[in-house]
Amino acid sequence: MLNMSIDNLIRANIRRLTPYSSARSEYKGRADIFLDANENPFDTGYNRYPDPLQWKVKDKIAKLKGIGREKIFLGNGSDEVIDLLIRIFCEPREDHIIILPPTYGMYRVSADIADVAVREVPLSARFQPDVEAVLKAADEHSRLLFLCSPNNPTGNSFSLEAIGQLAKGFPGITAVDEAYIDFSAQASALSLLDQYPRLVVMQTFSKAWGLAGIRLGMAFASEEIIGLFNKVKPPYNVNQLTQEAVLKALDNRKQKEQWVQSLLGQRTLLAQYLSGLEFVERIHPSDANFLLVKVTEPRRIYDFLVEQGIIVRDRSRVALCEGCLRITVGTPEENEKLFRALVEF
Ligand SMILES: *Cc1c(COP(=O)(O)O)cnc(C)c1O
Repeated sequence: MLNMSIDNLIRANIRRLTPYSSARSEYKGRADIFLDANENPFDTGYNRYPDPLQWKVKDKIAKLKGIGREKIFLGNGSDEVIDLLIRIFCEPREDHIIILPPTYGMYRVSADIADVAVREVPLSARFQPDVEAVLKAADEHSRLLFLCSPNNPTGNSFSLEAIGQLAKGFPGITAVDEAYIDFSAQASALSLLDQYPRLVVMQTFSKAWGLAGIRLGMAFASEEIIGLFNKVKPPYNVNQLTQEAVLKALDNRKQKEQWVQSLLGQRTLLAQYLSGLEFVERIHPSDANFLLVKVTEPRRIYDFLVEQGIIVRDRSRVALCEGCLRITVGTPEENEKLFRALVEF
């Protein structure tokens, strides 16, 4: 199969597109008086449009990750990154994406909204990608391969070797979703970026950083791919409040690291607690901040916990996750309460 250049993978309308040119992107220098964007001139702290390319934020992330700032895109959550990838690379009703279920639901929803078909190549019983089967399922209309590692809802990581093999052999764009990478014992696929020009690595501030409410996702890729994101994104997709909040968090990295350490300790403890319960059949190994737990009566346990004011995620009707509940690791107090409720059950 011929290895496609990125230019050949872009939808024709996107290649031809003249992007919107905002006032802030046309004049970038300093000035005393800005009368170019129809803003309200009275200072509210937020009367000006934000930096469309969020350079202050990117400079900090670049330093943290050891990657050039031109290789970073920031979106309104990873969900915007997923949506943009599909809109840049997939021609509706012609091209398709490949996903490896059971996995994160947004890949399919974004594809469905865009009227782009989805090919599924299920994970193995041990939740690993079948590299050969994925490459066999790919053809010239396979534009995107989504790999979620650590995977939601199974919690395990894929080996960097398998990710590399897929990135090498897949003819389209391979997007590795690393929403849970901060909790993982395995290294990030960021180290593979220089080797594979069609690789995109996605991360987020929604999990370990404790900032799901500000909606900020990251994509790391070649400058060519980042340029495409910037061409297609809404001009001011990351608002001023979000940019300020994340700058503050990035200056307080220790806090994030403390939370991660605490959650990893709690994950181990919770797994120990749960393994002693009679109705728990299996606790899947987790590289994330949640546990996928196979139980004898998932629906009854779910309903019982709801009555106690504790909500977990019922994944028992998802193929390969039969009988499983997905339980997020909470604070020590929350985990204790969960455990006590389960003992009562
Ligand atoms: C939670 C999660 C995200 C986060 O999405 P945001 O839009 O950044 O909040 C992305 N991917 C996966 C697999 C997730 O579980």
